[in-house]
Amino acid sequence: SSQTQPGRIMATERTFSILKPDATKRNLTGAVNAVIEEAGLRIVGQRRIQMSRAQAETFYEVHKERPFFGELVAFMTSGPVVVQVLEGENAVARYREVMGATNPAQAAEGTIRKKFAQSVGENTVHGSDSAENARIEIAQFFQDGDIAG
Ligand code: UDP
Repeated sequence: SSQTQPGRIMATERTFSILKPDATKRNLTGAVNAVIEEAGLRIVGQRRIQMSRAQAETFYEVHKERPFFGELVAFMTSGPVVVQVLEGENAVARYREVMGATNPAQAAEGTIRKKFAQSVGENTVHGSDSAENARIEIAQFFQDGDIAG
């Protein structure tokens, strides 16, 4: 716990997750959620939605000059996604570990992307890369009343 390791304060925090269209298409949402829960993260908010083009463009705005932007928006709107709020100790970093590398060929054993992802584009999950981005991303898809920790 936070008190037993001097100098190493563990904070409960939230991160934002998306189970991408390759996960919903292959009926893998429960299998991915099992990995998330086994890793000690709690799913405290969850909705299955069809992302609009505008929502996907806003969400990935930071990548809009990248060559893969068009393909990424097309993929993220190609089928339903599951948007989630995950809670746990150091949830942002913990979920990035559990997801594995962006390119599944480089993802570590046991990670979601190693187990399930098909390519660098269709890589099963999104997870926020910082606590600040987690807050922004959660606010894009969730109202306070739709999260219960
Ligand atoms: N992506 C892609 N081609 C690339 C790099 C990224 O299609 O060469 C997609 C992929 O779906 C990735 C997303 O863009 O998950 C966001 O990229 P980022 O580098 O932020 O990776 P992540 O944080 O998702 O691991």
